[in-house]
Amino acid sequence: MKIHEHQAMEIFGEYGLPVSAFDVVTSPAAARAAAESRGGSVVIKAQVHVGGRGKAGGVKLARDAGEAERHAERILGMDIKGLTVEKVVVAEVVDIDREYYIGIVVDRATKKPVYMVSSEGGVDIEAVASETPEKIHKHSVNPERGLSDAEAAELAAKIESDPLVAAQVADAILKLYAAFVGSDASLAEINPLVVTSDGIVRAIDAKMNIDDNALYRHEDIAAMRDTSTDTVELTKARELGMSFVKLDGNVGCLVNGAGLAMTTMDLIKQHGGEPANFLDIGGSSNPDKVATALEIITSDPKVRSVLINIFGGITRCDDVARGLVHAMERVNTDVPLVVRLTGTNAEEARSVLADHDLMTADTLDEAVEKVIALAGRDS
Ligand code: GDP
Ligand code: MN
Repeated sequence: MKIHEHQAMEIFGEYGLPVSAFDVVTSPAAARAAAESRGGSVVIKAQVHVGGRGKAGGVKLARDAGEAERHAERILGMDIKGLTVEKVVVAEVVDIDREYYIGIVVDRATKKPVYMVSSEGGVDIEAVASETPEKIHKHSVNPERGLSDAEAAELAAKIESDPLVAAQVADAILKLYAAFVGSDASLAEINPLVVTSDGIVRAIDAKMNIDDNALYRHEDIAAMRDTSTDTVELTKARELGMSFVKLDGNVGCLVNGAGLAMTTMDLIKQHGGEPANFLDIGGSSNPDKVATALEIITSDPKVRSVLINIFGGITRCDDVARGLVHAMERVNTDVPLVVRLTGTNAEEARSVLADHDLMTADTLDEAVEKVIALAGRDS
């Protein structure tokens, strides 16, 4: 789950990171008032779930409260990469001497958090990463031991030579790691971490993505979810405890289990098709869930056929088949369905489906070939 900059700032502050003081406002008049209370000069920052706000005109410095109000007026309602700005942060302004980058992501290849630091922080870190990757220093962290003071000092020394400043950078590096682990984040980033002209280190931007599977133990963070840009489909799926990810293809997938869903998508690709979505209905044959899943998938006009791939373990195939029949009665769709059910009570399931207008397949390969043919390979 993505959270907004101001929410990440709040968490970073709790972990002792040197973040700027700020207010979150939704109107130009409130921006003016916030600027006045901070002595006039502030930075106005759009709160949207995309990077590169600065370049898109979503970050503006204001010298006085009047200018703060005008900037807020322009930024509120602005479209940044397809997202409408509904909130802005009014933050105290910082006098910047140099801008660094510090960030942590989970590296799937090494199965460890990887720390990245660079002296080339600011708005162009993506360009630095692709054009001069040697300027980004990487360090793999042992997740069981955590990050030691010595490792943090070593990373800090790669980007800052002044020992008084480097000590503050090392401290920020440690605290960001603590915030990353403590919040079950999959990404935590400060870009830029700045050094002021007085040699003080400050975090003036904050980004954090949280592992959805860990949200159950962070009620406070789960409550930060901004659903204003979620589609109806996504919200429905989440309410029923299903994982739904929309993709660009035309073959809809309704599967039980995340691993099986991945395999199904891989096979569709391997046979030359393009999956339209990832949808894991979980371990339930509840007809309501199956019907909603079908509604979600077929509401995408690009979907030309749907593969229903169910492995019956504890879930019984005949239950799923009956759920499917009920679902078909509720969902009005012309999109052809191909059903492959295997495992517990698969035989009984087949006879349930045989009585209805549902195409079945005995093997997964056969099902995938059928569903791709129905979608039309060239469209
Ligand atoms: P992003 O473009 O979405 O990453 O937004 P940032 O919060 O990183 O802001 C973009 C840029 O605006 C920063 O790299 C800074 O150069 C500048 N900026 C942001 N806050 C301040 C501030 O308090 N003072 C000054 N001088 N510049 C700022
Ligand atoms: Mn930034």
